[in-house]
Amino acid sequence: MQHLIDRAAQETFLQTIDGERVATLFEDVIDPSTGTAFQRAPVATAAELDAAVAAARRAQPGWAALGWDERARQLQAFADAIDRESAWLSALHTLEQGMPFGQSELFVRTTAERIRVMSRFRVSDRILIDEPARTVVERWHPLGVVAAIAPWNGPLLLGMVKVVTALIAGNTIVLKPSELTPLSTLELGRISLRILPLGVLNVISGGRETGAAMVGHPGFDKVSFTGSTPTGIAIAKTSAAFLRPVTLELGGNDAAILLPDGSIDDLVAAAAMTGFSNCGQYCAAIKRIYAPFALVDAVAERLAAAANAYVLGNGFAPGVTLGPIQNKAQYDKVCAIVEDARADGGVMLSGGGPLDRPGYFFPPTVVTGLADGSRLVDEEQFGPVIPVVGYDDIDAVVDRINAGPYGLTASIWTSDLTAGDAIAGRLVVGSAAINRHAAFDPTVPFPLIKQSGMGVDYAEHGIRGTMRLQVVTTMSA
Ligand code: NAD
Repeated sequence: MQHLIDRAAQETFLQTIDGERVATLFEDVIDPSTGTAFQRAPVATAAELDAAVAAARRAQPGWAALGWDERARQLQAFADAIDRESAWLSALHTLEQGMPFGQSELFVRTTAERIRVMSRFRVSDRILIDEPARTVVERWHPLGVVAAIAPWNGPLLLGMVKVVTALIAGNTIVLKPSELTPLSTLELGRISLRILPLGVLNVISGGRETGAAMVGHPGFDKVSFTGSTPTGIAIAKTSAAFLRPVTLELGGNDAAILLPDGSIDDLVAAAAMTGFSNCGQYCAAIKRIYAPFALVDAVAERLAAAANAYVLGNGFAPGVTLGPIQNKAQYDKVCAIVEDARADGGVMLSGGGPLDRPGYFFPPTVVTGLADGSRLVDEEQFGPVIPVVGYDDIDAVVDRINAGPYGLTASIWTSDLTAGDAIAGRLVVGSAAINRHAAFDPTVPFPLIKQSGMGVDYAEHGIRGTMRLQVVTTMSA
């Protein structure tokens, strides 16, 4: 392991533009387990962005002409290459993102697997009318060049899903990872060089300004973004001036609703897995639990036991199961939300404040005694803190969830599947689940609604989102 950490310290990380490895300006990359800089990453200049867009435009017709099967073959080869460099990519992922090395390995494996699964989809033309004098055909073309902007919570995975979704359909792409976690994605640019034609996948880096420059660049045909709701709204506004399609995967405040007959153990396991692991930095995590008043203590106590079982520390240390929060701004936000919860009368059954050590460590925290109206219940915390809120009227819970701004996912925990299904149907969320919480499956569409976004990710729906529909009518001569 140490040789990978040493290599990461010595390497020069570069952008990939038109098959060239380039960089002019650099900025620091912070290790969240220490709060100090450990590397530098390029910041794309305006000329480099122009070059990336021009390369993608040049490469696009040839890439589209290869056809679905050859594109899929090359993408599968890319997935294999990612697997071969798994240890290196996982080490970078842990260094920049903070999560334990074993979890980074899982993210890298999942990245390769999603590329394989997504590249098996095909979108076919369809004959709509076939009459002696007239045929009408529905034809699907790639949009052209996609701008992809990714966040820091799952840098490789979230960026590469955008890449495969666009590329399999015959688009080319310029991908920008978050400036907080750029290194593993920059390495994917290098890895792609031996496999994909020049200019098909361009990887640039930089922060808010680079992202804004991409969104305002006239050379793109679509913007695919994952990140916060305010940034998503800014991107939608800029894109409106071009009438350019966007897919926006934004924030969420997922609720888990326990019915009186639901399995507390299953709910607690899912809440810990999504709401504590990776410090709760998942878009679709259990971010609040609604339980009947009589069950609040049982849920909270078992969740607190799960919370106390986590071992916090540097993601390379043996036995560590929880790394730091990824960045200082997010850490400060979580600290402030927990202080507000305490001021609102929240009772902390585990955790409750940051660790007194360098880095952005915050222990998994379970809070009771809060109601809707408290920030921790109403807002997206994006940290390892879960409120357990009591209820006595399930209809009021559904109304409260529907009244909130987000609509990403929700789960219902019950042994009465008919009752669970009825509640699922009343929740205004893109994905509802009964007895599990938002386990992603790339063959299943992931709809984005309300302030959780716009469009659909994954599956054929996601791929169609990178294509344009054309209707061709032919009259007999
Ligand atoms: P962010 O909006 O701060 O940044 C995301 C990306 O956008 C970064 O690459 C950043 O450089 C870039 N960016 C920032 N300002 C920009 C601008 N004005 N124009 C263009 N690009 C800009 O988000 P974040 O804090 O990195 O991500 C966390 C958020 O992402 C959370 O709210 C989380 O719920 C959400 N998320 C959603 C999903 C989903 O599928 N819905 C998945 C993962 C994360």
